[in-house]
This record gives sequence, structure tokens and C-alpha cells, in this order.
Amino acid sequence: MRIHGNGAGIGPVLYDGRMGPDASIRRAVVCTGNAHKVEELAALLPDFELEALPPGTELPPEVGATFLDNARIKAHAGHAMYPGRWVVADDSGLVVDALDGAPGVHSARFAGLAASDRENVDLLLERLEASPDAADRAARFVCTLVMVAPDGGETTAEGTVEGRIAHEPSGDGGFGYDPVFVPRGEELTYAQLGAEAKATTSHRARAARALQERLLARA
Ligand code: IMP
Repeated sequence: MRIHGNGAGIGPVLYDGRMGPDASIRRAVVCTGNAHKVEELAALLPDFELEALPPGTELPPEVGATFLDNARIKAHAGHAMYPGRWVVADDSGLVVDALDGAPGVHSARFAGLAASDRENVDLLLERLEASPDAADRAARFVCTLVMVAPDGGETTAEGTVEGRIAHEPSGDGGFGYDPVFVPRGEELTYAQLGAEAKATTSHRARAARALQERLLARA
């Protein structure tokens, strides 16, 4: 895993903006304030050396109606901030059938603008109290990735993973709704299954694989 900057954000530009010191590795800025996403993406995009945004970097509001709209908003804001660099943005969330697709694009702020992961999870479990049966708790994680090349060219990819919402949080790995999301075919939550399971089957892993295939096809 390669994450440049050790959380201190982007340092001085020491290269031509397209290639890292090893010419086979491209460096990309990840347009998110979510350190968990940067960590997961670093393991999933081995052809890129990822750099986190400097702490406190303001991204435009996510006003899009879809994950793709919001990922594009973040990616193109990153391209404007760091012209000539590769940038990648991830917009993702949880889609619950019994809640007509909520929290969806509002996953990060389901329980309010400054809500913690725990508050979002608690609200989700409360809203699902009327749906006690596993069959009625079907849900999926969705991840849309948008990569913008130094010349502004855009490559997009989406990944989903089906599952269900547990009745209570379990496990301490991951982030967000991981403590209540049980992927299909498993009995444990992603927070219990850990990073390896997510790196193989998650929405983000699937989106990252699709993105890399598309980038290769364009190269
Ligand atoms: P955004 O893409 O930054 O708008 O926020 C996505 C939100 O969806 C996160 O804050 C989490 O609440 C949720 N989410 C996205 N991906 C995951 C995941 O891999 N595990 C758990 N929750 C996730």
C-alpha cells in the first residue's frame, strides 16, 4: 500500500505531475476527506501512488442526485485544484430496499450534517425496526469512482455488493455502516470480516477493478 504524505496532505510538487519517481507508478490525488476511503483505495489501485487532500480542504457540496453526479463534482473540483495531476473521487453509500433506497446519496449525513457513523447506524436500525425479517432488510453498498487524467479525460466505474442489515452493530473494523452490513453469503458484518474481505468483495473493490480495466483499455 502506498499513501503519500502521511496524512499531512500534498507536499511540494517534486515531479512532472504525471508520473511518480518510479515511471511505472502514476500518482493520484484522492478527492475525499475520508481517510478510510483513501486507505481502502490505496490497496485497491496498485498502479497509483495515492495522496490524500491536505486536511481541511473544502470540496463543493454534494448536491447531485446520483453517486455518479457527486463523484464527478468531487473529481472535477480536484482537477481544478490540481491541474496536470491525476485525481480520483469516490462517492458511495448504502441503499436499503425497505427504505425506498435511503440513505443512498445521503449516507454520510443520514442523521444530520455533522452526524457520526454511530448516529447514522442508530438511525438506520431505528428506521428498520418495522422490518425485523432478514428478507426485508436487503441492502447494497454502491461505489462510483471517477478518475480524471491530467488532460481532463474522465474514466468512471461503479461497483455494488449485495447484503442485508443486521439487527445490531458488530465488529470494530472498517467505517460507516460496516458494523451492520452483512454481505450476501456471510453471517458476519464487514466490520467483523475485516479489510481483506472488503478488499475482495466490496463495492469499492469491484469499482476499482472495473476502473483499472477501463484505464487499461484506454491506454
Ligand atoms: P460520501 O461518499 O463521502 O458522500 O459518503 C459515503 C458514506 O457512505 C460514508 O460516510 C459511509 O457512511 C457510507 N459508506 C460508503 N462506503 C462505505 C463502506 O465501505 N463501508 C461503510 N460505509 C460506507
